[in-house]
Amino acid sequence: MAPSIPNVQKAAVIPAVGAAIEVRDNHPVKQPKDLAPGECLVKMECTGVCHTDLHAKKGDWPIPPMSPLIGGHEGVGEVVAIGASTTNQNIKIGDRVGIKWLADSCLDCEMCRKGYEQNCSKAKLSGYTVDGTFSQYVVSYVNHVTPIPKSLGSTDAASILCAGVTVYGAIKRSNTHIGDWIIIPGAGGGLGHLAVQYANAMGLRVVAIDTGEEKKKLVLKLGAEKWIDFKESKDIVKDILAATGGEGGHAAIVTAASTSGYAQAVDYLRPTGTIVCVGLPNDALGANIFWVVFKSIRIVGSYVGNRQDAIEALDIAAAGKVKVQFEMRKLADLKSVYEGLEEGKIAGRMVLDMRT
Ligand SMILES: [Zn+2]
Ligand SMILES: [Zn+2]
Repeated sequence: MAPSIPNVQKAAVIPAVGAAIEVRDNHPVKQPKDLAPGECLVKMECTGVCHTDLHAKKGDWPIPPMSPLIGGHEGVGEVVAIGASTTNQNIKIGDRVGIKWLADSCLDCEMCRKGYEQNCSKAKLSGYTVDGTFSQYVVSYVNHVTPIPKSLGSTDAASILCAGVTVYGAIKRSNTHIGDWIIIPGAGGGLGHLAVQYANAMGLRVVAIDTGEEKKKLVLKLGAEKWIDFKESKDIVKDILAATGGEGGHAAIVTAASTSGYAQAVDYLRPTGTIVCVGLPNDALGANIFWVVFKSIRIVGSYVGNRQDAIEALDIAAAGKVKVQFEMRKLADLKSVYEGLEEGKIAGRMVLDMRT
């Protein structure tokens, strides 16, 4: 029997760009008969909160978000309805699936065919150009929802869908091989602590950069081989060279939303090293071109991941090699979570329980 679908639900709505969020309990639920072919309705169990959600709320990126908007793009829930005449046979009612930043893409253009689904010109973005996961029922797309492995709990899976996929995709594009040194600034943060674990699982040697005893303990426990406290270090570049046997890292995953990390990376990478740009400061790169050329440095942008990246990232987590450090909150707490993000007070990830 098909599960009964209520007409209204709890949802965190941003009524206008830059406005405060409103947690409403009378937001309409799109009914199964109204779903278009290819759409599915997912009853959310939980959803992570990402720094991107803050940009969606403020509208401070070069690409404008839709308005009004429901944010969120790290959600896990159960498929409770699928649009009539949907041709995809892989997803069925009752499946536990994840909703990621890339909600949908055409699967038929050059970028999609090459596996760059996130660069499809028809891409739909959860919690940005289509409503996201901060509501109890979410309309998503059967071709792009990600099946969640049975052995992985929903709350453990949530932040893999954005933070995990993002850093996993970045390491895949870092041109590194087993035994190479990878430099991870911000290693104790939401993205960083996952990057340390994926890098470790992929056989890379990790130099973790962050500050404070708590983060040091965390990243060393998660598999970092070397630790540099940027507040205690008198010369970060010198310390990284020393940590990597004098030659510098083979790659750096720069997740900070500021430009300073990029210029420095040119100095601490060995020749032919790769800088993977993940953080999104709306600014020029600032790296010295002379040294980029002279050292044959590669600079690559890495923007989330495709469907396959999401499946791989979840499988590695399901195998117990990556564990998200998170705290649980309720949807009603989202406003204070946003405030915490804005003030930089939130360590690790926040996951909202959507069932209460
Ligand atoms: Zn995100
Ligand atoms: Zn496409």
